[in-house]
Amino acid sequence: MTTPQPLIDQFKRRISYLRLSVTDRCDLRCSYCMPERQTFLPRSEVLSLEELHQLALGFIARGVTKIRLTGGEPLVRRDMIELVRALGRQVGEGLEELTLTTNGTRLALFADDLAAAGVRRVNVSLDTLDRTRFAELARRDSLPQVLEGLAAAKAAGLKVKINTVALKGVNEAELPDLIAWAHGQGFDLTMIEVMPLGEVETDRFDHYLPLDAVRQQLEQRFTLASSAHRSGGPARYFDVAETGGRLGLITPLTNNFCEGCNRVRVTATGQLYACLGGTEQVDLRAALRSDDHDAQLSAALDRAMAIKPERHHFAIRAPGAAPALPRHMSLTGG
Ligand code: SAM
Ligand code: SF4
Repeated sequence: MTTPQPLIDQFKRRISYLRLSVTDRCDLRCSYCMPERQTFLPRSEVLSLEELHQLALGFIARGVTKIRLTGGEPLVRRDMIELVRALGRQVGEGLEELTLTTNGTRLALFADDLAAAGVRRVNVSLDTLDRTRFAELARRDSLPQVLEGLAAAKAAGLKVKINTVALKGVNEAELPDLIAWAHGQGFDLTMIEVMPLGEVETDRFDHYLPLDAVRQQLEQRFTLASSAHRSGGPARYFDVAETGGRLGLITPLTNNFCEGCNRVRVTATGQLYACLGGTEQVDLRAALRSDDHDAQLSAALDRAMAIKPERHHFAIRAPGAAPALPRHMSLTGG
């Protein structure tokens, strides 16, 4: 048997991280992410649990050591926990880490099962602690469930990182309190700039808040010291003296972070996107459904390495401008 070749792209970046979307459906409608009347992928086109499992194994065989399950909302897919259990058995067998990004609404139901299956860390998206603002932003009154989910995750021993999209005139004034709260709970918090992906009802330009400006604001209340911590992702980290916690900043628009990119994304229908900010894609479902699926999948991954672009090119251009890319973040999972 030949030794599997690692995934290395044309710019010599080693791809070791897969973000796998298990569904594009969601129980929230965050206004920066998707419109109220979102058109979802036909269920018949979505990969089965077995196909998702097989696909993940194909990546692990090519040297991928970290898998993040995402969506849409991964915990709304009914058989999701079965996939977590199956992949959890790969942790320590090639896979180093299995994680999840969730909006937290169903975390109270699943936290114990996730921990038992081998998940150690979860990212939970939370943009506000104000119930009215949450209901407006996510178009669903679900803050109590999210807080319950966070408490359950903590009780189950999962390490939690809060992801917060910084939005001008929406949660801008609340960001320092949100950081203090998260750190008080023992959670890290990472902020991200809103990205122009997919049509929504609002103009994202109106709410685009560059994190450099946020950082200056935060420094009026907190002492931020640059941290050597690296997560293998695009965030820059700061230690917050007053809280003892860690703050991450992801600035896709004000700073380009593509040089060290180590990841690819796969949608719930098996479409591989080589870059979050690009259209380069490879159909893995056809490979998975072929007779010679292992070899075909591996060959498809090689094709992905050949087309992965050097960097993304999206920008929030001007008021009223069309999104840089037509697809929503809920398709690729962030
Ligand atoms: N539903 C899960 C959640 O919200 O955590 C997982 C999928 S969601 C698409 C992943 C992350 O993308 C969330 O943290 C969300 O806030 C972020 N996101 C969605 N649309 C975005 C956009 N246009 N710009 C920046 N971040 C976005
Ligand atoms: Fe759903 Fe996550 Fe998009 Fe919000 S950000 S609508 S929770 S997929």
